[in-house]
Amino acid sequence: GRRVVVVGAGMAGVQTAVALREQGFDGRVTLLGAEPHQPYDRPPLSKAVLLGKAEGSALDVDFDSLGIELELGREVLGLRPADHELDTGRGPVPYDVLVLATGAEPIRLPGAEGVPGVHLLRTLDDAERLRPVLAGRHDVVVVGAGWIGAEFATAAREAGCEVTVVEAADRPLAGALPAEAAAPMAAWYADSGIALRTRARVEHVEPGAVVLDDGSRVPADAVVVGIGARPATAWLAGSGIELGAHREIVADAALRTSLPDVYAVGDCASFPSGRYGERLLVHHWDNALQGPRTVAANIVGAATDEPAAVYDPVPYFWSEQFGRFVQYAGHHADADGTVWRGDPSGPAWTVCWLREDRLIALLAVGRPRDLAQGRRLIEAGTPMNPRLLGDPARPLKAA
Ligand code: FAD
Repeated sequence: GRRVVVVGAGMAGVQTAVALREQGFDGRVTLLGAEPHQPYDRPPLSKAVLLGKAEGSALDVDFDSLGIELELGREVLGLRPADHELDTGRGPVPYDVLVLATGAEPIRLPGAEGVPGVHLLRTLDDAERLRPVLAGRHDVVVVGAGWIGAEFATAAREAGCEVTVVEAADRPLAGALPAEAAAPMAAWYADSGIALRTRARVEHVEPGAVVLDDGSRVPADAVVVGIGARPATAWLAGSGIELGAHREIVADAALRTSLPDVYAVGDCASFPSGRYGERLLVHHWDNALQGPRTVAANIVGAATDEPAAVYDPVPYFWSEQFGRFVQYAGHHADADGTVWRGDPSGPAWTVCWLREDRLIALLAVGRPRDLAQGRRLIEAGTPMNPRLLGDPARPLKAA
């Protein structure tokens, strides 16, 4: 039978291997992961694992019984598509079908590389290095008020640290949300006793302090950098595979790459969204769960005359920050209208984005039912009545 090799043993890689078996693939499946740890889930790293409320977050998968060959601590160094071979430090690995699921790497703070006390938060090792910082109630500076920065700040504050968040933009989540939706979030920092310094940049990091571009010195026993992540694709240089503007692997609607017999899924790859009419690069957990089912279906189906399965999700993610459960579904870039449900200064509210009276995205704070109902309305493309939509006492449903 054919041999499938999956590179990257994170959520997307593991789910691909599992989905292949679920969908009846009976050839060899090999999963290669650079990290030494049993495959694990990342969301708990900035939540329960960081706070020591959970030891780890290993994925509950029995690789042996599924006949998945799991090789940990094995980093793939190169791809030679003409030979259908990968290179690793322990010799070449041949494949018939290859799945790239190498995820993303955090962007480093220029000038802070190798400075003691400067941390990233992407891996289990990172989280373990940060646990004593929280336990010691140190002064911490978080660089970046994005999703990771907000979650780390929440955990550090809960642990009793003094926390300052430094953000170059004028508000939190500037890259992810429109100004009106992110504006209420600035108050969450203050309410939690966290200093949020917007329009501020780190000038340099010195022992015990961070110096900002306005000359102020903020005490810092530790610095956590959360300024974004980039697809982990440097190892593909020279392979001939097409990479996009963010160095992501450019996949098609069936999650096939520009090379024959090579697929890509999860944080490392973008795909064309038929639903939203643009290419999406999604760095969220649900994408690493759903995409693999399409990849597996297309690998299994390639041996038949079945038309290719198309990946066209309504993107979804959640975040837990400052005691709030924040959820987002859809993609708001093309919205032509906004409807609020509830008071954004209160504990629970939702903002809905419409296009031609159809719901295309929503952000729900403490309103999980809005999220669940809204996600279905987005999927179905149901026309909405904006006036009724604005009544938070009414369930989110078509008029
Ligand atoms: P990854 O999880 O990055 O896995 C890729 C794996 O490939 C890694 O283990 C890496 O070591 C390995 N690898 C890379 N290069 C190679 C190579 N050359 N050879 C072999 N192996 C390689 N999303 C949400 O929706 N909600 C959340 O609350 C949330 N919280 C998060 C909290 C944290 C701290 C982090 C870091 C992420 C969070 N996310 C969250 C995002 C979510 O975890 C990611 O979208 C998801 O992990 C992507 O899965 P992936 O398999 O594509 O990539």
